[in-house]
Amino acid sequence: MLGETALMTYTGSCACGAVTLEISGKTLGTRQCWCRQCQQIAAGGPTNNAIFRAEDVRIDGELSTGEWPAASGNTLTFSFCPSCGAQIFAQSSARKHLVTVRIGVIDTPNDLRPEMAIWTEEAPAWAQIDPRLENYPRQPPPPQAKA
Ligand SMILES: [Zn+2]
Ligand SMILES: [Zn+2]
Repeated sequence: MLGETALMTYTGSCACGAVTLEISGKTLGTRQCWCRQCQQIAAGGPTNNAIFRAEDVRIDGELSTGEWPAASGNTLTFSFCPSCGAQIFAQSSARKHLVTVRIGVIDTPNDLRPEMAIWTEEAPAWAQIDPRLENYPRQPPPPQAKA
């Protein structure tokens, strides 16, 4: 039986396959974000994200990046495939040791699912937000590294 220390590995790719990912290690937390900027990059829905240690994430393939100021005052840099436009991950200037990977590019089946919904005050009126999720109207506290 696998213990707590078992190495978790995830693989993934963008929609066109030009960018591939390999992640070793457990997520530090998963979030569904309904902020306006996420709606704009996610075709109206939320983004679904899993936070990992940057050192645990290996990306192969060319990435393009963009950035915007986050509501917190930090700068959010997001990386995407220049060929298909798929969002791969984001990184905050305040937490360079972490990467926020878009769950959609991680191969299924996997055990990742949002455990909290954030920025729900910006969600559209028609949004169906799972009431079982921890709910933050705006930014939640930063993830704590689990020992
Ligand atoms: Zn692609
Ligand atoms: Zn967002």
